[in-house]
Amino acid sequence: MTFENNLAFAQSLDAQDPLKEMRNEYLFPQQNGKPFIYLCGNSLGLQPKLAKEVLNQQLNNWQNLAVEGWFEGDKPWMFYHKELKKLMAPIVGASPDEVCPMNTLTVNLHLLMVSFYRPTKERFKIIMEAGAFPSDQYAIESQVRFHGYDPKEAIIEVSPKAGAYTLETNDILAEIEKHGSEIALVLFGGINYFTGQLFDMENITKAGHKAGAKVGFDLAHAAGNVPLQLHEWNVDFACWCSYKYQNAGPGGISGIFVHQKHFNDQSLHRFAGWWGYQENNRFLMEKGFVPEAGADGWQVSCTQVMPMALYHASLQLFEKVGFMEPLREKSKQLTAYLCYIINEVNKALGEEQFKIITPQNPDERGAQVSIIAKENGKKVFDYLVKNNVLGDWREPNVIRLSAVPMYNNFEDVFKTGELLLAVTKSIAND
Ligand SMILES: *Cc1c(COP(=O)(O)O)cnc(C)c1O
Repeated sequence: MTFENNLAFAQSLDAQDPLKEMRNEYLFPQQNGKPFIYLCGNSLGLQPKLAKEVLNQQLNNWQNLAVEGWFEGDKPWMFYHKELKKLMAPIVGASPDEVCPMNTLTVNLHLLMVSFYRPTKERFKIIMEAGAFPSDQYAIESQVRFHGYDPKEAIIEVSPKAGAYTLETNDILAEIEKHGSEIALVLFGGINYFTGQLFDMENITKAGHKAGAKVGFDLAHAAGNVPLQLHEWNVDFACWCSYKYQNAGPGGISGIFVHQKHFNDQSLHRFAGWWGYQENNRFLMEKGFVPEAGADGWQVSCTQVMPMALYHASLQLFEKVGFMEPLREKSKQLTAYLCYIINEVNKALGEEQFKIITPQNPDERGAQVSIIAKENGKKVFDYLVKNNVLGDWREPNVIRLSAVPMYNNFEDVFKTGELLLAVTKSIAND
């Protein structure tokens, strides 16, 4: 499609958007009585209007039923996670028994590594992307040390070629092949938080398995952003948070995926707790851990009802739009328009003031566009915020803007460009 840099064009795209009504389902933050143009769903998604209602239902259940709420009422807490599993599964391309809501993301990363990072003297290395989210780096480092290995030796980071910001799939696959029999685990992000690069998870999984390693993904920036096929891709395990593209609130509950093929593997280690015990016999309180079948068997502590209620509210809206395919279709267009608009700003300024480091290829990115400001980046960012455009800032010079198909529109993108140009010009004239 050929884009145009004017309001009427943006509004005409919005008029044709089958998801255009969805933004009315969300609450936008305000400043000076005006709603923000919110382009920060990569960090914290917006509150669905439904959230209060669904949370209130559970508060009422707590009030009226107290301890009986575990087994009584319209949504007994004991089984509430099953409703979420049905709605989480289509988001990541899994069957409901392969997913489970529990804990928070980094905690789950640790729990899953306990099961799927089982280093031996010959095979103890982990391959990951350079510049992964710090929490993942720390988790992986500490797991390696926990097993008695040296992170410097055991962790192999795949880096972009000199001068590049993003990785080439072939370089990732070549690195996996090169270290072959020494690799215990390939652990990648689905989408890198900094560059917004979407990795080829299917082929990374194939290469990892060919090398004899387990393969897992941190889907913090991918789940709810791009369609995933974890089961079909044969991924061993994955986890994600629900508060970025899945709008389940700050510190929201995380989700895990464990591939069905591991369900009957008695040799898998895990850090157990009572909530992972066989559901039917859990309250016999007997000695000797017997895991519940499926991803549920990785639960440790009792289920978190209030965070699940918030996730449930949000998941109902994903169900309403038909899950990921319709969102992705709009997302590709919206993000392409955002890139076009940023380049229009550069054109008007007569130089590449804002360099897009997110891949140009729509198949290698999700909603997020990361731009490097040539100069005055922080100032530009602060001016944008002051003028009701909320993206996010990453040191030393990167602005991340995410047009989220669930609640952003083409007009948001157009207006952001207009403001970006005005702000940059005014700073230059200061
Ligand atoms: C956001 C994010 C996290 C955050 O982890 P929490 O345990 O939820 O605080 C971890 N890893 C990645 C890749 C992320 O993008």
